[in-house]
Amino acid sequence: MYRSHTCGELRESHIETKVTLSGWVQKTRDKGFVVWVDLRDRYGITQLVFDEDRTSSKLLEQARHLGREFVVQVTGEVIERSSKNPNLATGNIEVLVDEVVILNESKTPPFTIENETDGGEDLRMKYRYLDIRRNPVKNNLVFRSKVAMEVRKYLSDQSFIEVETPYLIKSTPEGARDFVVPSRMNEGQFYALPQSPQTFKQLLMVGGMDKYFQIVKCFRDEDLRADRQPEFTQIDCEMAFVEQEDILDEFEGLTKHLLKEIKGFEISAFPRITYDDAMRIYGNDKPDIRFGMEFGELNTVAQHKEFGVFNSAELVVGIAVPGAANYTRKELDALVNWVKRPQIGAQGMVYAKYNEDGSFKSTVDKFYDQEDLSKWAETTGAKPGDLICVLSGDANKTRAQLSALRMELAERLGLRNPEEFAPLWVIDFPLLELDEETGNYHAMHHPFTSPKPGQLELLETDPSAVRANAYDLVLNGNEIGGGSIRIHDRDVQSTMLKHLGFTPEEAQAQFGFLMDAFQYGAPPHGGIAFGLDRLVSILGGQETIRDFIAFPKNNSGRDVMIDAPAAIDQEQLRELNLKLDIKG
Ligand code: ASP
Repeated sequence: MYRSHTCGELRESHIETKVTLSGWVQKTRDKGFVVWVDLRDRYGITQLVFDEDRTSSKLLEQARHLGREFVVQVTGEVIERSSKNPNLATGNIEVLVDEVVILNESKTPPFTIENETDGGEDLRMKYRYLDIRRNPVKNNLVFRSKVAMEVRKYLSDQSFIEVETPYLIKSTPEGARDFVVPSRMNEGQFYALPQSPQTFKQLLMVGGMDKYFQIVKCFRDEDLRADRQPEFTQIDCEMAFVEQEDILDEFEGLTKHLLKEIKGFEISAFPRITYDDAMRIYGNDKPDIRFGMEFGELNTVAQHKEFGVFNSAELVVGIAVPGAANYTRKELDALVNWVKRPQIGAQGMVYAKYNEDGSFKSTVDKFYDQEDLSKWAETTGAKPGDLICVLSGDANKTRAQLSALRMELAERLGLRNPEEFAPLWVIDFPLLELDEETGNYHAMHHPFTSPKPGQLELLETDPSAVRANAYDLVLNGNEIGGGSIRIHDRDVQSTMLKHLGFTPEEAQAQFGFLMDAFQYGAPPHGGIAFGLDRLVSILGGQETIRDFIAFPKNNSGRDVMIDAPAAIDQEQLRELNLKLDIKG
């Protein structure tokens, strides 16, 4: 038996008990007449003690030579600790060791394996298995497992069945490139790894499975943006015989359950906002509503004065920044420079201080008197003591810029409290999105999303006006889930594909299997998928999803530990009937 207890388990009640522990040597402190060793496992740390009075000199010598991260098994007696450590669960006791077995030695680790480490990101990724021994990483993995368990518990209580769908499939359009896998047995042919199980879950509905879920890996070959992983995990769900309302209800339930069980947080409101309103009020389709700073459109009150910049703008829009009227000139200049950075791209910023005494002081006092500015305050909801920031220009660009400013200021003002949770449904998305470069329409969500009832005909006349039966779940300014009511009629699906630029032959070749299935009694259905990595990191109060993935890829999509991707040898290429044609 390797151990009778774990390293996190022993308490005063165990004093005088004989125990066996196994774990890793975190630290050895040698005071000459006494040697202490911190022994660590997944559950905690227990202090081992060896001393001249009670330990044989041979054993004391052995203790002295235990290196960091040696794996050892020790047997001894639990005794009371003279200097107790209140920061450690086992801090009232120590184990007086009478036998040590070295189970495995360790090279000196490349970084310290403690809560605070001296290892840089790259080094820790290369030796991720050592990083996982550290509490911050280990705790995140334990946390992730807890979230996944609660998801399974809730959904299976609601009669969802977990079904696995295949990984070696054919392209599913979710808007990214596919990772492909060559088929050895079918020369010149390739599988694609699923960007999501979308078509399979719809086929499960045709198969009568009714309520499906799966915690599943998805693969998207995208140019890596910060904090994206080429493979990531979804909580993928689908239901038959449902309308949008049923889905929103069901997954409001899941969200509330998770927040309550995992965070002890009770949700009081679960608001909904249309896509158009979200863009108008927050300049963003995934607004953080933990704080206000809603947009006030100032065209009617700020245009047609003498100020040309505003007069020529499609949109003049502002926000009230709480308590920021006392920003210094230097701080304000820095803010103006911040919005002018290329990443934000504003031409400039007008601001007005709404002083505590009720007066205004703006950068455009030449054009606007106190009464004008009080209308700005009214429109943006500013109170005395606030700062009104105003941007202007092309409507879409200006909204995006002001949204970025809103988030930045909220961050600086500490309004994005990670312990507060504000979920929000964004509904009524446009069905299609115009690709400015090609002039073609893309499905904003995916090609299987149905238009709002009665809007199918609009596709012919005014495609960009068609709204989708689609919804996103937003939590604290992050999109954590999205889904839609699907098309379940063959003709509607082929009309949709036609509008997306597929010829009937292309549509049949790529989606024939799905459209054929629709001819055999496909029930009305819809679903949603949550990004598990993102959900876990938000619940965990941290920003980076990589910290919640056991073996993540780096920003260039590489696994630096196993060194993948990597070249394969000629023999393997030949077997796969692949020829590498590297030029240059
Ligand atoms: N398959 C979709 C996605 O990955 C989710 C859904 O429509 O259920 O975003």
